[in-house]
Amino acid sequence: MTIPFNGLGRQIAAHRDELLEAIKSVVDRSAFINSADNQAFESEFAAFCGTEGCVGVANGTDALEIALETFEFESGSEVIVPALSFIATSEAITRAGLTPIFADVCARTYTLDAADVGRRINPRTVAIIGVHLYGHPFAAHDLMALASGQGLALIEDSAQAHGARIGDRTVGSFGDLATFSFYPGKNLGAFGDAGAITGSDSRRLLRARMIANHGRTSKYDHEFEGRNSRLDSLQAAVLRVKLRHLDEWTQKRIELASRYRDGLEGIGDLKLPVVEPGCCHVYHLYVVRTKLRDTLADFLRDRGVYVGIHYPTALPDLAAYAGHPQASEAFNASRLASEVLSLPMGAYITESEVETVIGEIRSFFAGS
Ligand SMILES: *Cc1c(COP(=O)(O)O)cnc(C)c1O
Repeated sequence: MTIPFNGLGRQIAAHRDELLEAIKSVVDRSAFINSADNQAFESEFAAFCGTEGCVGVANGTDALEIALETFEFESGSEVIVPALSFIATSEAITRAGLTPIFADVCARTYTLDAADVGRRINPRTVAIIGVHLYGHPFAAHDLMALASGQGLALIEDSAQAHGARIGDRTVGSFGDLATFSFYPGKNLGAFGDAGAITGSDSRRLLRARMIANHGRTSKYDHEFEGRNSRLDSLQAAVLRVKLRHLDEWTQKRIELASRYRDGLEGIGDLKLPVVEPGCCHVYHLYVVRTKLRDTLADFLRDRGVYVGIHYPTALPDLAAYAGHPQASEAFNASRLASEVLSLPMGAYITESEVETVIGEIRSFFAGS
């Protein structure tokens, strides 16, 4: 018996006909670039996030880089980023000609610690990128207050949190701009790479659209040199189909998370995901924490349970940042990275599979 990590294959199988129909329609119209599917997806996704607009781009990493470029910051300026994330978040800062400065994350939600961000701000700081990690929103209100008080831009890396909310406001609507990834395994996933930028400043969104499309708005009127980072129409068509099911899939994730909580609360030193008051966590990942992480991961894998680690190394500890001024600084993120374990989670993971995982974890701690 094996239990998959996110059940993506099952999701696709369950919706195969409508997905293939959408692809067939794009092929039949030979409408592959900037087609009606792009415009429709962008307006549907903006409505989903509660923003004025959305610009489809090629992937979530480009979305971050392009979002930063819209501000035209002086090169070398500093952008504060959490010490625990996927490398795309900090990589995009460097690619945009800026300097990533790592701030610590809080041990409850694994998202940016606003107090530590405050300590990192100096005259070279121009922006903060928060990450709604694992599907839990970062402290957007604290960071919005900090950013606006200090005249900094705030960008939300929402790659893991489609539909997460604080109160009745959805992620993607808090920052000056927000970015999304539709990498296949994300909560809303394409059939390949895809991404988007959302926001409500129409001039900034237009700038992003132009950067992603060779600096133009019409065929050969290039106002500046941009790049090619458009969202494929095939992906837009797939995303339109999947977006219609996203709320239902998120609800299923939340139900599974509540089963995990009922079954795992109070076992060993296991720490379960925290949901801050007023927040809606969309459980892109169901991440638990234990000092016995590596032995528990091996135990589960030996029993056919697919688990993951997000992320095994905090960003400042990666070889990629060996030359970074903060490479030898101590971060809570480094300890958290040695303890986190992602359990199977997804709309097509079954309740009985979750019960099996719970049973295995209970037997691990009973024997350890
Ligand atoms: C997936 C991810 C990205 C990058 O998205 P791609 O579409 O793979 O380029 C950026 N940030 C975070 C937090 C992610 O999880």
